[in-house]
Amino acid sequence: MKSKNLQLLLFFILVPLNLFSQTDYRKFHFESIVADTHNDVLMRAVEGEDLSGRTTKGHSDLIRFKEGGVDVQFFSVWVAPSFLNVNGKDHSYKRATAMIDSLNSLIKRNPQKIGLALNFNDVQKLINQKKLAALIGVEGGYPILDNINYLDTLFNKGMRYMTLTWNLNTPWATSAREESRIDTVLQFKGLNEKGKEIVKRMNQLGIIIDISHVGQKTVDDVLSLTTKPVIASHSCVYKLTPAFRNLKDYQLKNIAKNNGVVFINFYAGFIDSTFRPKSDSIARFHKAAIDSLKTLPLHPDDITLAIEKYLSPFIEPIRPPLSKLVDHFDYIAKLVGVDHVGIGSDFDGVEALPQEMDDVTFLPNLTRELFLRGYSKNDVSKILGGNFMRVLKANTN
Ligand SMILES: [Zn+2]
Repeated sequence: MKSKNLQLLLFFILVPLNLFSQTDYRKFHFESIVADTHNDVLMRAVEGEDLSGRTTKGHSDLIRFKEGGVDVQFFSVWVAPSFLNVNGKDHSYKRATAMIDSLNSLIKRNPQKIGLALNFNDVQKLINQKKLAALIGVEGGYPILDNINYLDTLFNKGMRYMTLTWNLNTPWATSAREESRIDTVLQFKGLNEKGKEIVKRMNQLGIIIDISHVGQKTVDDVLSLTTKPVIASHSCVYKLTPAFRNLKDYQLKNIAKNNGVVFINFYAGFIDSTFRPKSDSIARFHKAAIDSLKTLPLHPDDITLAIEKYLSPFIEPIRPPLSKLVDHFDYIAKLVGVDHVGIGSDFDGVEALPQEMDDVTFLPNLTRELFLRGYSKNDVSKILGGNFMRVLKANTN
């Protein structure tokens, strides 16, 4: 083909594509169901912060969810390890219920903006009412205190997914971090009998099994046992970024066989393999300043915040481009199909996000990038929320 003809052909292909991406992607985004399976903002709510109006810190609040086009949000109930031993007592259940209460209180104060969803129909009803459908996910199995009755209690309080482990093992399941450590000998790997009992009960009750953070052997055991599709509520692809808890190709294939979905985490360190080495060397360079911040008479969480704030101007230039995030969506869609990938941002739970994704209001940029990579409207709507709705319907009674 003569080069002029080729130029013309490219013009007719690329201009409409570009026009669509520039104008209609936002309209499409706001008309679609957008679901996110992991947000940690309850860590702020439980400390008394009011998320009803626009807030200046973190990544989300009720105003910003709206501006990002979010229709469905799984709120993560993450219990910090310090609550596992408070003066010799395990306060993890107590802390989990306090976090759930903070969400219920937010809902009570904003009945026009947000409602609690307990199943697929509730989600649809809330979307039709143009309210944010809020669901509760408990991250890490320790709030059930090794007692299956607490699984029912938390289900009755609204828990609709439970991540079997966080980075720590539970007495009945091993985590990705602990399984991958070479300096520890584990008493067992995967699910023990108690763990199997818990997984079966989760299936019966209609609690989605979340395998983010969970060890490879545990994931294998879950997939051979579960009768319902599982999710990874906030995980990425190991082949692209070999982080200890990113998912390997064989796991992605097994999750797809189970008709499950992997919801992609936006954390810079999980999407770009060069980020952690760069941020570690920045932290080493600023070691003296960090050490002095650690001596401040503050709560450990506030010290972490102070360190993050101090480091943020140095981290800013090494934030990965948005394309690195989209690569993880693309990889899973190409490996196992577009039906098995979605959004699990981890907003308000991570200290560094990719460029053009500063907070939840930037979500339409993801839709734009998916269209630019050639995904159809049908594909994009599955990624944004359709896959989530399928897996929710299959799990909740
Ligand atoms: Zn997590």
